[in-house]
Amino acid sequence: MKSQDIRAKFLKFFEEKNHSIVPSAPMVLKDDPTLMFVNSGMAPFKEYFLGNAKPKNNRIADTQKCLRVSGKHNDLEEVGYDTYHHTLFEMLGNWSFGDYFKKEAIAWAWEFLTEVCAIDKAILYVTVFEGNEEDNLPMDSEAFDLWKQFISEDRILKGNKKDNFWEMGDQGPCGPCSEIHVDIRSPEEKVKISGRDLVNKDHPQVVEIWNLVFMQYNRKANGSLEVLPNKHIDTGMGFERLCMVLQGVQSNYDTDVFTPIIREIETITNSNYGKDQEIDVAIRVVADHVRAVAFSIADGQLPSNTGAGYVIRRILRRAIRYGFTFLNQKEPFIFKLAETLSIQMGMAFPEIKAQERLIENVIKEEESSFLRTLDQGLLLLDKVIENTPLKIIDGAKAFELYDTYGFPLDLTQLIAREKGYTIDAQGFENEMKKQKERSRAASVSETSDWMVVKEDDVQEFIGYDTLEADVKLTRYRKVVSKKEGEQYQLVFNMTPFYPEGGGQVGDKGSLEAPNGDVIYVLDTKKENNVTIHITKNLPKHLGDTFKAIVSKEHRQKSASNHTATHLLHQALRTILGTHVEQKGSLVKPKSLRFDFSHFAKVDVDQLQEIEDFVNARIRENLPLEEQRNIPMKKAIDEGAIALFGEKYGDSVRAIRFGQSMELCGGTHVKNTGDIWYFKIQSEGAIAAGIRRIEAITNMAVGDYFETIDKQYEALKEMLNNPKEPVKAVKSLQDENASLKKQIEMLLKEKSKGIKGDLVNELTEINGIQFLAKQLELDASGIKDVAFDLGSQFDNLFLLFASEQDGKAMLTCYISKELVSSKGLNAGQVVRELGKYIQGGGGGQPFFATAGGKSPKGIKEALEKAKDYIK
Ligand code: ATP
Ligand code: MG
Repeated sequence: MKSQDIRAKFLKFFEEKNHSIVPSAPMVLKDDPTLMFVNSGMAPFKEYFLGNAKPKNNRIADTQKCLRVSGKHNDLEEVGYDTYHHTLFEMLGNWSFGDYFKKEAIAWAWEFLTEVCAIDKAILYVTVFEGNEEDNLPMDSEAFDLWKQFISEDRILKGNKKDNFWEMGDQGPCGPCSEIHVDIRSPEEKVKISGRDLVNKDHPQVVEIWNLVFMQYNRKANGSLEVLPNKHIDTGMGFERLCMVLQGVQSNYDTDVFTPIIREIETITNSNYGKDQEIDVAIRVVADHVRAVAFSIADGQLPSNTGAGYVIRRILRRAIRYGFTFLNQKEPFIFKLAETLSIQMGMAFPEIKAQERLIENVIKEEESSFLRTLDQGLLLLDKVIENTPLKIIDGAKAFELYDTYGFPLDLTQLIAREKGYTIDAQGFENEMKKQKERSRAASVSETSDWMVVKEDDVQEFIGYDTLEADVKLTRYRKVVSKKEGEQYQLVFNMTPFYPEGGGQVGDKGSLEAPNGDVIYVLDTKKENNVTIHITKNLPKHLGDTFKAIVSKEHRQKSASNHTATHLLHQALRTILGTHVEQKGSLVKPKSLRFDFSHFAKVDVDQLQEIEDFVNARIRENLPLEEQRNIPMKKAIDEGAIALFGEKYGDSVRAIRFGQSMELCGGTHVKNTGDIWYFKIQSEGAIAAGIRRIEAITNMAVGDYFETIDKQYEALKEMLNNPKEPVKAVKSLQDENASLKKQIEMLLKEKSKGIKGDLVNELTEINGIQFLAKQLELDASGIKDVAFDLGSQFDNLFLLFASEQDGKAMLTCYISKELVSSKGLNAGQVVRELGKYIQGGGGGQPFFATAGGKSPKGIKEALEKAKDYIK
C-alpha cells in the first residue's frame, strides 16, 4: 500500500466514526511559551484540553506535522543512527474532547490496525500503565480489561511512568496511556527471544507505533496532579512507522516516504545507500533533516540566530556536516532535494509545493554560508594544531570552535584524529556546562499556578468595538523573571485589550479600580487562547469591577500601521507579482515592517510605484469592511488571502479595504484615509529570497518630513541659501576634486626637488650610503622618494621621519643587496625605533614603516639609526 493511501485510509476510517478531518496545524507555535514546535498531535488542541476554547466537533482526526528537536521530546541525536526516529514526522491522531473515552479508543485502534490494515494480531503487543506511588496513581485496570477482549493477556505488558504516562511538557494536561507495539522481526529471530521481552527496549524491529493517551489530569506548576473536569482521548500514531509495517520493510527509510529522496541523494552525491554504515547514517540524516527544514521554512520559520530559527539552523547544519564529512560534499547540495520533496509531499502538504523555490533558495544560502564557516573553522583548527605540541587539543579551544563556528565536538575530533591529535573532551564538556549555567542564570523565570478569583470559562474579546469596558478579574498568577522582575498576569471575563498577535504588538493601557487606584497594563499577550494582561501590581480588591481602558494613541497608531501593511501587501502583489508571499510582519505604533518572498532587489522605481499605490488607496478613503466569524471557505472564495504558517479556525475574520482582502485578527482603521500618508523607509534582503520593507504612516510621516525639512534648511543656510542647493553641492564637490588633484601635483613636484637635495646629503659609512632625516612629506611622498633613491644606489640605508596631525611616522628603506649581505632588516629597524615615537609597525626586510603617537621622539629615533650600520 502506498503511503498516500495509508494516510487516506486512516482519515477515512475516523471520518466514518463521525470525526471531523482537519488539516495539520503549522509546526511552529506562536502563542505558547512552553513549546517552540508542535511535538505531538495534541499540541494544537491544547486549548481544548485546558478548557480555554471549545471545538466545533468533539471528535477530530488529522495528520499533524511534528518536530522533536528540543525540550522534553528531543530525538535529534538518534536521527540517522536508528531507523525509526525522525526529527519531522507525521502523527496520525484521533481525538475526543470530553466525548468518547477508553472503550471506543481501544476498540477503534484495534479495528483499524487488524481489520482495515489487516496487520497480523500475532505481531502486536500492547502496554498499560502500572501505576505510580509518587503521584499516588493506581494501575490502569480499566484499560487492561478492555484490551483483554482483543488480545491475550500475555501480550499485555505493564509499563512505568516513563513509557505509560504521557505528558506534553512540565505542566499541562496529561494522563496514563496504552501503547501498541509491533514485532516485525523474522521468524528465526523470534524463536531466539520473545517479542514480549523486547517491547520498549529500543529494538529497531520491535517498535511502538501508536500511543493512546487517556487524558484525565492536569499537571500543576508545583508538580501535583488535578483531575480534569472532562476526560479526553488523544492518540498518536507514527505515520512513517505504520508505513514501514504495511509496506513490509524493516526501516522507515525503506518506505516510499523516503526512498525518492534517498535515490536523489545517491544521484547527487554519487554514493550508494546500504553499502557502508557511515554513509548510510549520513544519507538518513540528510533525508530526514531536509524535510524538517523545508517544512519549517514553509511554515514561515526561517533559519536564524535565535529561538526556533536557531534550532532549524542547527538541524540544517547537522545535515551539512554529515554531507561534508561522509558524503564528501564540499559544495551546497541539500537544496537540490527541494524539488523531489515537493513532488513527494506536495499533495498532502500544499505549502511545500507552493514555496518550493523559497525553500530551495533559503537552504542553498544557508549551505553556502555554513560551508564558508566550515572552511574558516578548518583553518583555525590547523592553527590550533600547529601551536599544540602535545597532540592533545585544549577543551576550551574545541569549545570555541563549537561556539563560534558551529563545529560540534565529533567533527573536531574527527579532523583532529586524521592528524594524529586527540581532544580534551572533559575540558570541552566543562566549558559547555559553564555556558549552559550562564544562560540558565540569565533566563530563569518562575510562573506560579493560576489563582482563580471567579469561576468563568468564557473570556470575550470586545476590543474591535470598544476601547473601554467594565471588567471582572477571573484569575491571575505571578511571574518572576530576571529580566522583568516581579510581574502579574491578569485574566478578565472580557477585555478590550488586543493581545499581541498577527504581527501586531499588544495593547497598553490602564485598569481603574472603584476607589480610583490605577494599575497600568504594560503589555497584552495571548497564551493558548487566553488573553493575559501584564501588570507590575495586583489590584487591592480582586473582586472589584475595573474600568479597563486601552491607550487610544497606542491603538490608533498600531491600527494605522496594520491597515497600511495590508495595502502594502496588495501593492507588492500587484506591482511585483502574485509570487509575493507574506513572510512576517511587525506592526508597532511607531512603524511597520513587512517581510515577503521575492527574488530580486526592489528597485527605486518599483519602490516609488509601491508607495504611490498605497497612498492612492489612502486617498480613496476606502472604508473598513469587516466580516467576523465567517466560514473559512467563504472567505477564501471571496478572494481573501490566507498566510502559510498561520493557524486558522473553522470560522475566520476577513478584513477588506477595496480590493485588499485578508484573513486577519488585527485592529484596523475605520477608513484608509485615517492613515494619512505612507512612506517607505528602507528595503533590503533579510535572507535568501526574502526581502523586508520598513515604513511609517500617519503622524510619524509628519515627524519624518519635519526632520528632513530642518536638515534641508540648515544645509541651505550653510550654502548661503542658493536657489538650487543640489547644484550648489555638486559644484562644491567638483571644486574639491580639482583642488585634490592640484595638491597631488604640487606634492609630486616638491618630492622631486627634495630628492635632488637628498642625494647631496647622503654620507658614506662603512661602504653604505646613509641618511636619517625628517621630511615634510606625506606617507606616499616619502615612499616615492625612498624608492626613487633606491633605484639609483644599491647600498642605501634610509630612515625618514615625518609628522602629521600630531602623529609621528618612521620609514626605513634598505637596499636589497644590504639586506642579504649585511643581514639588515628594515622591519626590525622600525619595530625597534618605533618605541621612541611610542608606536610600532613593520613591513618587509627592505622597506617598512612605523607609526606612533609621540613626534617628540623623532629626533632620538633618527640619531639611533646610525647604530645599525656601525
Ligand atoms: P519512542 O519511544 O519510540 O520514541 P514515544 O514514546 O516518544 O516513542 P509518543 O510520544 O507516544 O512516542 O508518540 C506517539 C507516536 O509517534 C509513537 O508511537 C511513534 O509511532 C511516533 N513517534 C514518536 N517519536 C517519533 C519520532 N521521533 N519519529 C517518528 N515517529 C515518532
Ligand atoms: Mg520518544
